[in-house]
Amino acid sequence: MPRAFITGITGQDGSYLAERLLAEGVVVHGLVRPGDDQAAGALLSRAPGIVLHEGDLGDAGILGRLVADIGPDEVYNLAGISSVAFSWQEPVLTARLSGVGAAAVLEAAWRLQEDSGRRVVCLQASSAEIFGDAATSPQDESTPVRPVSPYGAAKAFAHHMACVYRGRGLHVATCIFFNHESPRRPLAFVTRKITAAAARIGAQGTGVIQLGNLEAARDWGWAPDYVDAMVRAVRHEHPSDYVVATGRTHTVADFAEAALRRAGLGDDWRDHIEVNAEFLRPMDAPTLVGNAGKARRELGWEPTVGFEELVGRMVDHDMELLQS
Ligand code: GDP
Repeated sequence: MPRAFITGITGQDGSYLAERLLAEGVVVHGLVRPGDDQAAGALLSRAPGIVLHEGDLGDAGILGRLVADIGPDEVYNLAGISSVAFSWQEPVLTARLSGVGAAAVLEAAWRLQEDSGRRVVCLQASSAEIFGDAATSPQDESTPVRPVSPYGAAKAFAHHMACVYRGRGLHVATCIFFNHESPRRPLAFVTRKITAAAARIGAQGTGVIQLGNLEAARDWGWAPDYVDAMVRAVRHEHPSDYVVATGRTHTVADFAEAALRRAGLGDDWRDHIEVNAEFLRPMDAPTLVGNAGKARRELGWEPTVGFEELVGRMVDHDMELLQS
């Protein structure tokens, strides 16, 4: 049976990916941060059968030994600091985990391939944040890499390293993910922050959501669709870079309006949002929108969930959580 190793397995994408691979009969191993028992427990109850290993992504020696012991056929590097907002508070940690950590994973996979003599395929979860304040729109695989956040800079380094190891003979695909959401998004992200608050305000009939940049426009997709793109990309005959996006943008204000409407707040939705400077960032890409034409053509990939449906699923989930 094929074996997969996933870093960042307890996150939104990692958990969907683990479930997907398990359903295919793949033996799934994952790396969890030491002490992250709560997330590991939640994942094991959702996807029993996965094998978890504790380890620090920043420790290349431990990672190398672990990958050599597991001997995976597929390696997915999803780990790191996932929030751009948090990366401004912890830029060094972000560089270590989201940037240097990727180099450690690639090196471990490369060593395994060299020592075992069999092909190891890798997927690096790249990010639209590598484009930063892009001069062209929509962004595609040829858009210059010009990050404007510590997160984007760390991911840019990881993206370049993926290309370096591809040149060295390792089968490394990257998915340049635009924002992708689901009910599994942590509250640190604006989408879940809004849907959780909208559900609460809908139930109580009162309350406000304090937000930062309401005009930021993002290309928001459905996370399981993006996991599907990863699997298609890593298993494609030729490893390459793929933008994964819906091609449509909405502002943070649009998201808040759609969520509050779904929660039953109709025409007075504006009364329930407020700008708080605490949530503004030192720099924020004004618009990120991707052109996934290459993924559609070469991988046969399609997003299946539109904006209204995505917001609806997240708000409904948060309303159910409140009721239970
Ligand atoms: P990320 O930037 O890709 O990590 O995703 P986020 O969901 O954190 O942020 C998406 C966009 O929402 C960014 O442009 C933020 O500046 C903007 N935003 C506006 N208000 C907020 C807020 O209260 N929290 C967060 N996290 N982002 C906000």
